[in-house]
Amino acid sequence: MAALNSLGTTGRVLLVDDSPIALEAIGSRLTESGLDVVMTTSPRESLGLATEGPQPFDLLILDVMMPEMNGHELTRRLRSHARTSNTPILLLTSLDSTDDRVNGLVAGADDFFTKTAPDAEMLARVRSFISLGKMRAQLQAQHEAMARVMREPDAPTPPQARVEIIHHMPVVSERLARALRGSPVGGEFQLTQRAPSQRLGTSDADLLVVSYPVALEGDQPLLKRFGFDEEAPAMLVVDETESTSRRVMAFDAGADDYLTLQTPMAELAARLASALRRQRRQRQLRTSRDRAMLVAVTDPLTGLYNRAYFHEALGVEFRRAQRYKHPMTLVLLDLDHFKQVNDNLGHTAGDQALREVSLRLRQTARSTDVVARHGGEEFAMILPETDLEHGLIAAERFRAAVDGATVHGARGGSRSLTISAGVGCYPAHATSMSELIELTDAALYNAKRQGRNRVCPVTVGSEPAAQAPIPATSSTNTVLERLRRLVAEDVEGPLTATRTAARMLHEASAPGDALHILTTQLRSSSDEVRQELLRVMDDLSRAILDAGRASAPREHK
Ligand code: GH3
Ligand code: MG
Ligand code: MG
Repeated sequence: MAALNSLGTTGRVLLVDDSPIALEAIGSRLTESGLDVVMTTSPRESLGLATEGPQPFDLLILDVMMPEMNGHELTRRLRSHARTSNTPILLLTSLDSTDDRVNGLVAGADDFFTKTAPDAEMLARVRSFISLGKMRAQLQAQHEAMARVMREPDAPTPPQARVEIIHHMPVVSERLARALRGSPVGGEFQLTQRAPSQRLGTSDADLLVVSYPVALEGDQPLLKRFGFDEEAPAMLVVDETESTSRRVMAFDAGADDYLTLQTPMAELAARLASALRRQRRQRQLRTSRDRAMLVAVTDPLTGLYNRAYFHEALGVEFRRAQRYKHPMTLVLLDLDHFKQVNDNLGHTAGDQALREVSLRLRQTARSTDVVARHGGEEFAMILPETDLEHGLIAAERFRAAVDGATVHGARGGSRSLTISAGVGCYPAHATSMSELIELTDAALYNAKRQGRNRVCPVTVGSEPAAQAPIPATSSTNTVLERLRRLVAEDVEGPLTATRTAARMLHEASAPGDALHILTTQLRSSSDEVRQELLRVMDDLSRAILDAGRASAPREHK
């Protein structure tokens, strides 16, 4: 049968049945459909193969009635091994008893089918469980790798599970809810029932129990939307009466299980519980993987990206800039006289200062900028799609944001902080990434040499690039006008700092100080106001640079 191959589902399956005849019959059908099948009549041997064999399996198919060890016991043992704890298990039954099914699910099996089930149905089940097995194996591997890196073996406990039942018949929906409440998961979930007429946009449920028409019919079938998405909830389809073709259709569309209104209550409960258990485990693995990934690229002290991530991100951005012939800017920043902060106020105050500066840099950066801690008291920022003119404006904004931040020592005393910055651009300054880093670092050194608390662009030849005229698009007056408007709109209550900044700008025409005041306002602003403030700050920075009086360096001893 070419069905499996044509769907591109290949995988390794372990088949265990004490009857060589049954083994041969089922095994050959699976092999013909393109699967790599290992067969054994011994449950004990299968345990070894599955848990210690040279290669893991994507799916385990076990007979239930076996003299040496029955399928339920084998399932239990497989579940207790790390390697097979998440591998999908299908049980083969010759009898069609509800007890048998329920016991199998409770032992940890994912599903079962009768040996007399039609080929199409069996293959549909196998296909869907092989995809599931692969996804789980991948999650598990990522989880283990990350856990090793982080030495944090345990996945965090996920919050309470959410189940949503969507069915047009309240009677059915009630019955499903009752089954869930009486199931082995007991009360550890929140349940929502809703009618299909209430359109479901997205769902943050772990498990969706939906009627066949909602799942597969109409112009927006749910399975089309959620079927094979890693983040999607598990989906149980409830049909009116058993139909092999609809069952196959449901599994092919990515359903996790197919039930009918005739399914006995106890089995319903066991199936719901088992689907929920599977989904929770998957979500747990996903959360821990995502968290681990985040930790791997984050600097623990400041919460900024770490050096390793910065270099990767710079590589990506640089290549993108080259390919699309877009500009990009690199800003390297270093705290001024930071050694003195540590020496005079102690290391704890030093750490606190680093956190404060990080926060200010992050707040004054745009969401597309990468803000990283490059070393001890050095920071790096990648500004995609940013040319020299705008890069300088942004760097001035960062400098102003840090200027004057105060750090207090535990035993009294305080210091205010400043930062120096070097600005380098592609393609204006450099043609390779290493050249860009090197030149920008030299620009930072220049900023230090010229007195600190200032921004220096890369110098090309003997001509400092900063002296290239920056076209003025807005004067201090128009900036003032926009500040007035912000204050007048009073978007989020009393914009005291903004008002003060506007007044200062108006009275003393001191854009540097106004810039500084606006920085303090950013923290308490809504996203919308923050975006507008950043734009105003850009214009102020431009005015400063225009006037050629880049705010007088304020040296701190
Ligand atoms: P400059 O203006 O020339 O940059 O002077 P500086 O004192 O900042 O430069 P220097 O490179 O000599 O000193 C850097 C200091 O930064 C050394 C150390 O005291 C401090 N530092 C580096 N990493 C950390 C950290 O993680 N925590 C704390 N508290 N201090 C750090
Ligand atoms: Mg320093
Ligand atoms: Mg340094």
